[in-house]
Amino acid sequence: MSFMYELEALNEEVLYYYLESITVTDVERIVAKERLTNRDYLALLSPAAGTCLELLAQYAHRKSVQYFGHTIQLFTPLYMANYCDNGCIYCGYSYYSDVERVKLNLSDIEAEGRAIRGTGLEHILLLTGESQRHTPLMYIEAAIRKLSPLFSSVNIEIYSLSKEDYSQLVKAGLDGMTMFQETYNPALYEILHPFGPKRNFKKRIDTPEFACQAGVRTVTIGALMGLDEWRLEAYKTGLHVQYLMKHYPYVDLSVSTPRIRPCAVGYTPNYPLKDRELVQYILALRIAFPRLGITISSRESAYMRDHLVHLGVTKMSAGVSTAVGGHTKETAQGESKQFEISDDRSVHDMARMIRKQGYEPIFKDWQLL
Ligand code: SF4
Repeated sequence: MSFMYELEALNEEVLYYYLESITVTDVERIVAKERLTNRDYLALLSPAAGTCLELLAQYAHRKSVQYFGHTIQLFTPLYMANYCDNGCIYCGYSYYSDVERVKLNLSDIEAEGRAIRGTGLEHILLLTGESQRHTPLMYIEAAIRKLSPLFSSVNIEIYSLSKEDYSQLVKAGLDGMTMFQETYNPALYEILHPFGPKRNFKKRIDTPEFACQAGVRTVTIGALMGLDEWRLEAYKTGLHVQYLMKHYPYVDLSVSTPRIRPCAVGYTPNYPLKDRELVQYILALRIAFPRLGITISSRESAYMRDHLVHLGVTKMSAGVSTAVGGHTKETAQGESKQFEISDDRSVHDMARMIRKQGYEPIFKDWQLL
């Protein structure tokens, strides 16, 4: 049984009808419940719930403190390569983009890792474009082996792997993985991914599950907000969370809520997500899934991220460069960025902002033995 079957069973017309039927009174009743159903989560994404963000924020804050305390975990991405065999039409690294292609060797990767470690961070996210030819499993495994002595948590965001491949990486020291579904709309997915291995929608949707089965400790999923109507994407992401929580209760699960940013290919999103809508999505996730990690990246502005500290977010990136080698090589900046970031504050500045708000920045919350 795969989450795909649950997704296929959804009737979007019925979902829209339900969303429109929700009233403020319904929302007031739902937020006060101890355990929420799928329908309750959907109700929190409704237009009516969008008019009660203050109320949602109070409940989300309470649940966040109850389950996570006053903490925000910090991490940073390390871009190891930007070769990609896919044609995602919204991404600056896509196959036809004329961005300069770069791939770090192992000593470059170690130097990047040491530079990042020097900032105090202990959680790192390794990224590549999606090219098994240029960045094969052995390359990823070697990077994990090189970096795991330096970091308490090494995570990857790369192409889809099999359960066996994830097991191999876990043995090498892998702690976590991120896999964005991009959109949970299969028809739209086909249009946005005209060629390349990523075109396989079902394989993509099953990949986080393979990671769970292989013993990856922490798994992050999400949709790229702006590709499709946000309420549907948010709801389907929630269903995916629920599916994984039910079948893999021992996995530390998170959702990331990235909005499309400007990039080299100049893609304009059809459904740009407003700030209030992003906030509503995060609040609904927190209230419906109190144990869920919620990640907000530097795609968001400093202003936005500062205000989200109290509203249910648990992880933030800091000291970010989306250029390959961007932590050590100044010349890499601007030549190979996947997308423009919005919040370029250093780790030190992010930690200071978090402390100023009465929260504790967490550099390490896990040690692989
Ligand atoms: S989103 Fe990922 S897979 Fe798609 S073009 Fe960009 S790097 Fe490649």
